[in-house]
Amino acid sequence: MLNRAYVYAMRMHGAQLRASGDPYYAHPIEVAGILTEYRLDTASIVTALLHDVIEDTPVTRTEIAELFGDEVADLVDGVTKLSKLELAEHMRQAENLRKFILAISKDVRVLMVKLADRLHNMRTLGFIKSPAKRERIARETLDIYAPLARNIGVHRICAELEELAFEHLNPVARNAIIRRLEALRAEQGGAVAMVSHEIAAKLEAAQLPARVYGREKQPYSIWRKLQRKSIGFSQLSDIYAFRVIVDSEADCYRALGVIHRAWACVPERFKDFISTPKRNNYRSLHTTVVGPKGMRIEMQIRTETMDRVAEEGVAAHWRYKDRSYGFDAEGMEAAGGRDPLANLRQLVQVLEHGGDSEELVEHAKLEMFLDQVFVFTPKGKLISLPSGAMPLDFAYALHTDIGDATIGAKINGELKPLRTTLHNGDVVEVIRGAKAAMPADWRSLTITGRARSAIRRAIRQTEKDEFQRLGRATVDQTFQRAGKSLKGLSLRPVLERFATASDDDLFDAVGRGRITPMQVLETVYPGLGDDEKAAASERQRIGDGKGARLFVRGELPANATLHFCPHCRPIPGDRIVGIVDEVKDVTVHVIDCVLLEAFEGGGEVWRDLQWTSEAEKHSISNAKLTATIGDAPGVLGQVCTIIGEAGGNIVGLSMHHRHAQFFDTDIELEVRDLRHLTNIAAALRACPTVETVERARD
Ligand code: MN
Repeated sequence: MLNRAYVYAMRMHGAQLRASGDPYYAHPIEVAGILTEYRLDTASIVTALLHDVIEDTPVTRTEIAELFGDEVADLVDGVTKLSKLELAEHMRQAENLRKFILAISKDVRVLMVKLADRLHNMRTLGFIKSPAKRERIARETLDIYAPLARNIGVHRICAELEELAFEHLNPVARNAIIRRLEALRAEQGGAVAMVSHEIAAKLEAAQLPARVYGREKQPYSIWRKLQRKSIGFSQLSDIYAFRVIVDSEADCYRALGVIHRAWACVPERFKDFISTPKRNNYRSLHTTVVGPKGMRIEMQIRTETMDRVAEEGVAAHWRYKDRSYGFDAEGMEAAGGRDPLANLRQLVQVLEHGGDSEELVEHAKLEMFLDQVFVFTPKGKLISLPSGAMPLDFAYALHTDIGDATIGAKINGELKPLRTTLHNGDVVEVIRGAKAAMPADWRSLTITGRARSAIRRAIRQTEKDEFQRLGRATVDQTFQRAGKSLKGLSLRPVLERFATASDDDLFDAVGRGRITPMQVLETVYPGLGDDEKAAASERQRIGDGKGARLFVRGELPANATLHFCPHCRPIPGDRIVGIVDEVKDVTVHVIDCVLLEAFEGGGEVWRDLQWTSEAEKHSISNAKLTATIGDAPGVLGQVCTIIGEAGGNIVGLSMHHRHAQFFDTDIELEVRDLRHLTNIAAALRACPTVETVERARD
């Protein structure tokens, strides 16, 4: 059968070539070769030889069934399904992953062939020309295949896959670790032989013959440790683990006793995987002791059989049974092992039907899901989130409306802060309020993009509502002063003139100071008389030019045109001074305006000026405040209300974020005079969400 499969694969792949330039059929032969190292059954080896024929040649499943029987046809079909999923763009997507797990959970041999296939492809990855493709394949290997190999205990394949992927994904880090390992080996290599010898001698003295050897850790496993803990590696225990192989399970514990009596054991580092094997059937005792010369020594104590399972996992359980050779699930169970695929199959069920949380917590320990956290709604619906997710992420994963209204969360029945990180199996109940005021630090309460963009949208909407309210109120006020009413009035002419889409948009523009209430009034009532206009504005705006003499008096040249300094923006109440230029124009400055420094010493251009009583009673001027405000929706509304209550009129607002929790705002205002402005600033400072308020100088 092997011979027929060999010839058939060769003939079918014909003249196809690999990226390496080798004939294609060399690949299935290599894959079959990898599997022979694990002494797999004939059907698996034949499957390896045929694994690409359905995918890459015109051969069908029916033909394979006719030639090699249904068993082989099913296996080849299974591997082909996996290859197809692999080609689908988003391998890591939950749905694809579910199908993938479903396909491999039927027969462990499908997974073994697939792993050997991937291993050979990784060994020849360098021949793939596209760097993006190389990276995708390496990433997928690390994220999916290596964890799967570990899951069924095929440690040797897992380790090689990880190293090959690491080499492609992060050659710089890997080389750095390898150089460091070389240096440490040169320093401490002698110690390895010495320590092995000492351990063996101690055991021998206790009549426990043992095979002891040191094993250098792989660069990738060192790298993972370096990522988990931000410490360097310098000790022997960071790079070497010692294997102590004894004859029987009882000898494992005896050996442990001898070792712990000889050297102090490091607390919390002792683990008994013999009485409690890992899910992938790994069995061994782990301990770390402070050994000879005070060196920390990490040890794994196990029998030959345990060692083989540790290296080969399920592949250690292939044997003759009923005159055929295959995977001996019963034999493995009799030996205290578990069906390695049972947990995968259960995981599929859990993913399909929700399942109970207890079970899921167990399954979610699968390393392949380490970057995800599975939680439940109170009704038992499964929600998967990136690990590190918090209740707001959960709420937005359910529905945007739920997220927007979330004010708290119960986790496993207990009220918890929104800052709580969710764990596998948590039952999360969202507590909703009528309308949630988003906490100022919401950015630190979410990690998912979905939650963050939804919150940003909600905040923009709240802001918009506030501007609209503000705009509507000021327009209403202006109309009332002119003896008019907004009620039942069509604003269509205004919408047309300012090209705004709706009344709401118009009020928003007024609120933001892009359109003044006066412009709205004049557009609706073009024939409005001066009296009504004056009544509407009450006060006269302080402006430049000849008319400005109404507001400022003092040593002014006849017919001088007055200007107000655009930098210091004097308002009635400020102590002011004038500077005369060559054409006898006068610029009015506040006495401490920085621009005045330029005229120091030039006494003849300075003019002493005062505000007129007219200015103090009937003028209105623009001023600007700069405020630093806590970043929370609703704050803007508060600020606007405070200014409105103090009789100020906001004509413009602009915000720019400074950092996560505060933003700077420039508030352009109409005020009567300095005292008015000071009152408004004081009222703002009294508001708890306002950090600082200063008068702005441009
Ligand atoms: Mn292949």
